Amino acid sequence: MNFKQLRFLFGGVKSQGIAQPASSHYSKHRDSALEKRAMSMISTLAPELVPRLIVGWNPRMRTTAGVAIHSRYEIWLNPALCGISDAEVDRTLLHELAHLLAMHRHDRRRSPRPQPHGIEWKQACRDLGIEGEARTHQLPFQRRTMQRRYRLRCPVCGESHERVRVPKRRVACLDCCRLHHGGRYHERFRLEIFKIEA
Ligand SMILES: [Zn+2]
Ligand SMILES: [Zn+2]
Repeated sequence: MNFKQLRFLFGGVKSQGIAQPASSHYSKHRDSALEKRAMSMISTLAPELVPRLIVGWNPRMRTTAGVAIHSRYEIWLNPALCGISDAEVDRTLLHELAHLLAMHRHDRRRSPRPQPHGIEWKQACRDLGIEGEARTHQLPFQRRTMQRRYRLRCPVCGESHERVRVPKRRVACLDCCRLHHGGRYHERFRLEIFKIEA
């Protein structure tokens, strides 16, 4: 067994190797069904919020389940929630809606700014029927999604290391760059990337 840890050296130029979808693929989009659900939940609690609410999906989210942007009355959810369950989508929607409601009430009272998951938010959760909601914005099953999925291997010395994501920049083996190239990056020691099959 080899316990030596592979160390990296980053190259100066951005990697060309990893194809990214077109930017439009990544853009946020509103969801009228989610908006209607949020509006119906808030229609008696804060009817003045109903025409301002914007609810949708943000495909750029990684481990965050959802966010509430109270200055614009926006709620954005992570599309990965759809792969878990409808109940998880709804729970996250109401969690974020409770943030908007708590901040909205705060503005009207001009009291000190509430804590993100403080008593005002907890009250809003009760009013929205999700008393005891957990104070997390992380996706459930995050551990599974964070499993190491790529192996980086030095083509010269053969050292390898597992990573969750592909590095955004070119990476070379630090030990080999030091040994053979004065500690500077060289393509010859650029790490090879292998996808680890689950
Ligand atoms: Zn929250
Ligand atoms: Zn090496």
